Amino acid sequence: MTGCGLCPRRCGIDRAGAPGACGVGEELMVGAIVIHRGEEPPLVKGAGSGAVFFSGCPLKCVYCQNRQISHGAAGEILSEEELAGYLLLLQERGCSNINLVSPTHFALRIIPALDLARAKGLDLPVMLNSSGYESIESLTCWAGRAHLYLMDLKYGDNEAGRMFSRVNDYWDRAQEAVAHLWKTVGPLCLDGEGRAVSGLVVRHLVLPGMRSNPFAVLEFLAGLSLEIPVSIMSQYNPRTYTGDLPEMKRALLPDEYEVVLERAADLEFSTIFAQGLDASSVYTPDFQSEIPFGDKRRIL
Ligand code: SF4
Repeated sequence: MTGCGLCPRRCGIDRAGAPGACGVGEELMVGAIVIHRGEEPPLVKGAGSGAVFFSGCPLKCVYCQNRQISHGAAGEILSEEELAGYLLLLQERGCSNINLVSPTHFALRIIPALDLARAKGLDLPVMLNSSGYESIESLTCWAGRAHLYLMDLKYGDNEAGRMFSRVNDYWDRAQEAVAHLWKTVGPLCLDGEGRAVSGLVVRHLVLPGMRSNPFAVLEFLAGLSLEIPVSIMSQYNPRTYTGDLPEMKRALLPDEYEVVLERAADLEFSTIFAQGLDASSVYTPDFQSEIPFGDKRRIL
């Protein structure tokens, strides 16, 4: 992190001196740790998914639902030993995996913590829960340490990435990342109890007016493999949008969501996860609350 290139922004700065475009310096900062039941069903068996939400983010999405922690340095500074302790606690509480939410900019802190927790008995699958804006070099750091990859594919063109997430090359980098993971990690594997233990799941949040270009996303994935599980999300929340496009200030319309589900079915993906149209009220977290997702009390 002395010439940071952990994400495709490649700021090249020394994060000991100043935060990068991700908004955080070199110290490991965690916005919340919760047992989360809101991920796709095979990812939340048992007590749920042991989710660690890291502060900061390389993207600056203008509709981010995690803005309280992702757009600045809000959270607790933890040592690698402290994070390892929390990972073991999530295992003790019956979680089915460790869910690292937006970990890319802290990879060099998290990996030693994971190795320490493994040495002390952590044996859960580890999931990289990512915006999709990843470099192949950074993904390679997780090989052998992460088993599940829950990757966003937010937009089907670079222009939407520029407009909504403030990066020029989202579509280029995210396609490379997903293709690399499909080749190296492969399909979703479940154990005898239906718990996901390894593999790739790709998420796409449909934006109002189809601004996310969902058909291009689905066609790209279909070209890689119809065995990639696709999770098509309806939880866009206009209350978290800070831009000035009138179309984005309204909720997703049922027709806009259904036409994307139909396209995925027409392409014949083998696994399609879908949400109800009330998802934005269920899954918009409040990280200032003791119960950020409205059900389980936070651990940190
Ligand atoms: S992780 Fe942060 S500092 Fe490093 S390249 Fe990405 S945005 Fe810049």
